[in-house]
Amino acid sequence: VLNENDLKFKFNKNFEIKKNNSSSNICNTHLNLIDLKIKKEIINKKCFCGKLAYYKGLEGKLRYFCKEHYIEYFERKIKRTIEKYKLLNDKERVLVALSGGKDSAVAFFVLNKLGYNVTGFHINLGIGEYSKKSLEIVKEQAKLVGKSVMVLDLKKLVGKTIEDFINNPTKRPACSYCGISKRYLFNRIAYELNFDVVVTGHHLDDELNFLCHNLINWNLEYLYKQGPKQEKEGKFVKKVKVLYETEEKEIMAYANLINIPYYKGCCELADNQKTKKYFFFWDRLSEENPQVKIQFIKGFLKNKEIFKVNKENQKELKECEICGFPTSRDICSFCAIWDKKITKEDLKESLFWID
Ligand code: SF4
Ligand code: ZN
Ligand code: ZN
Repeated sequence: VLNENDLKFKFNKNFEIKKNNSSSNICNTHLNLIDLKIKKEIINKKCFCGKLAYYKGLEGKLRYFCKEHYIEYFERKIKRTIEKYKLLNDKERVLVALSGGKDSAVAFFVLNKLGYNVTGFHINLGIGEYSKKSLEIVKEQAKLVGKSVMVLDLKKLVGKTIEDFINNPTKRPACSYCGISKRYLFNRIAYELNFDVVVTGHHLDDELNFLCHNLINWNLEYLYKQGPKQEKEGKFVKKVKVLYETEEKEIMAYANLINIPYYKGCCELADNQKTKKYFFFWDRLSEENPQVKIQFIKGFLKNKEIFKVNKENQKELKECEICGFPTSRDICSFCAIWDKKITKEDLKESLFWID
């Protein structure tokens, strides 16, 4: 049986292996580590109802819950986040971006349970086994929630896939092309098909990772825009993060408890060294003070005005000369990457439904 230190070693070792282009599975180790922590944290603890604890949660103070009360706690937490930041209302048509992973799957499941008008949306990026398996899992997620899910086939839309950018001459990682494409398509689909809001599976640990990265690099404009909600602005549809105050391990505990199917592997192109860089740093801090993550995020939201950039330093938005969607340049990044004009009809033709 691996202990926590072994796993940390394995986790770091995997980074090294990955650097040498081996196909090691970092995410499973990462998930195992979270799982191990969940188990370690609840040993010999009891829920207020007297049953053995399944997991702990922060509700003002630290509390331990049995399975039944953990589910209640978790769903209550999402509901409160939505109400507190005014993220969604009952009348809105909500598009949930599904990757196949646990975070977006949990957001989809809980929002549906809370009665919101949700539609799942998945992009088939054409990245080898990762995309094939993700699509299979999204089918299972659709079945569990009892809703059809809309799928966009990138290859059908633009004639290429993200794999075409591996070892590209610009040396930019494929993830950068993928990120731009996903952000653009979530917005474009929502806009063209009259959705009011896009929900993504970003959680508290993602947010802390992002803040650390942008603080270290002093990306003021990104810092100021960061938060649980981006309001609608012209052709930019509203975007919200309903898991904003929820830790990754809480989401994983809920997904496992409900038996929500999710892809446990990792995209072949992922650079986890970059994306999970601050994972252990925040974990170590929260061992000493379990409130530290949420305190930091709340403090950031309270004080983020200090990152406001002067009007003259802000990049002004105009319409892309090719697609007409907002951009700070003459041609938006999506059109520049794929070099193809996409019409509303093209989008509709590259969509199909699964249920
Ligand atoms: Fe796209 Fe990179 Fe995520 Fe893979 S790891 S799905 S290439 S952003
Ligand atoms: Zn209980
Ligand atoms: Zn464009």
